[in-house]
Amino acid sequence: MTCDLHIHSNYSDGTWSVENIVDYAIKQKLTHIAISDHDTISGIKPALNYAKDKIEIIPAVEINSLYSFDSINHDLHILGYFIDINNKNLLKQLEFHRQARYRQSKKILENIASISSNLKIDIDTITDLSIGQSIGTAHLTKAILKLLPGKSLESVYAEFINSKSKYYVIRDILPTLEVIDTINKANGIAVLAHPMYLGHNLRKSLPIFKKYGLSGIEVFHPNHSNNLCKYYFDMAKEFNLLATGGSDCHGPYNEFEPSLGKISINMANLNRLKNLI
Ligand SMILES: [Zn+2]
Ligand SMILES: [Zn+2]
Repeated sequence: MTCDLHIHSNYSDGTWSVENIVDYAIKQKLTHIAISDHDTISGIKPALNYAKDKIEIIPAVEINSLYSFDSINHDLHILGYFIDINNKNLLKQLEFHRQARYRQSKKILENIASISSNLKIDIDTITDLSIGQSIGTAHLTKAILKLLPGKSLESVYAEFINSKSKYYVIRDILPTLEVIDTINKANGIAVLAHPMYLGHNLRKSLPIFKKYGLSGIEVFHPNHSNNLCKYYFDMAKEFNLLATGGSDCHGPYNEFEPSLGKISINMANLNRLKNLI
């Protein structure tokens, strides 16, 4: 029995529908999957309805958050597992994040159009790309790439979308501790996704996060080398936190194969998570 605890659908910036995800996960012989879209839980009910008893769907979400440490701002992603998808406070917070995504995307498009008049993209084109309306930089990059087919995805991202780009504007975002607290109050289990975003500040920050209700760190992630996985695994042990993992699959895109199921955790690990519910 294996579980992939980090998957994005086209309700945020994934390319696959939840039905595609369920079908593929069954083919990969997974027994549990967490649909963990950015700032939206819209995909969970359709996934539950489609999966029925063929595979277990874990209700989840990945929420962006702002964490300042030593005068450095970090954009940390917090995963929430087994959340109550009807919790009003959580739904309100997710709506705040989606509106912030919309405002940021609209402003970036305006900045691009004001400098490069051949690159006028309507915000509705972007929202059409995400059925859950949790739009973001991936959608913007793909829309610009369509107008500049000679360029690569990476170069478009670097030129137009990256935070160092002249077109970039900051997104309104809530503090990490508030996000962790909201997940807990929605009966969820809060886990720090891909902790390398926090670099060397992780060790000093974990006790603070734990105090606010963090239960685990994502040890196994495609961007972590074996050494890094071991480092995070030991750190999870040291701080008495759960070690989770997932593929962070965003579906297939051009030459990129879907990574779903490539990183998974076993049932014993999942049970440790379930015991916290
Ligand atoms: Zn993430
Ligand atoms: Zn993710």
